[in-house]
Amino acid sequence: MPGIRLDIVTAERMVYADDVDMVVAPGYEGQLGILPHHTPLMTTLLPGELRIKKGGEEVSLAISGGFLEVRPDRVVVLADAAERVDEIDVERAEAARKRAKERLSQQRELGIDGARAEAALRRSLVRLRVAEMAQRRKTKR
Ligand code: ATP
Repeated sequence: MPGIRLDIVTAERMVYADDVDMVVAPGYEGQLGILPHHTPLMTTLLPGELRIKKGGEEVSLAISGGFLEVRPDRVVVLADAAERVDEIDVERAEAARKRAKERLSQQRELGIDGARAEAALRRSLVRLRVAEMAQRRKTKR
């Protein structure tokens, strides 16, 4: 099967660039599976797990939302933030989760921006989930 070129970039760096067999992305309207020769499209991504299949292997990245474009020659993901599993700092994500939870519980008294805390909570949960799922896959092997 011919591969698809996948580029995942943020404002800061090139996170991933390789030929892959399939991409499953957290699309705005649900999981979006992309195989070679997919129709060109542009869509919004939600915070979630982006899965890449390549040569029988599967790798995951945590994505904090962004855009995905299917071009005739490649798939381009412009992410707000993206980390490969091995880059995820679980302690940092856990600390971010706790902080966001606390902010949400104090929201009424302190007038903290609830949407911002919700978004931070979502990002931390995605990072924790991606790290945990990768760990589970590893122990299954
Ligand atoms: P924090 O409060 O810990 O900074 P955040 O969700 O506010 O988390 P972002 O603004 O989404 O962080 O990301 C800022 C930068 O830090 C990005 O480059 C992102 O990839 C990186 N980053 C954030 N959290 C983690 C983490 N747990 N592990 C690895 N990289 C992270």
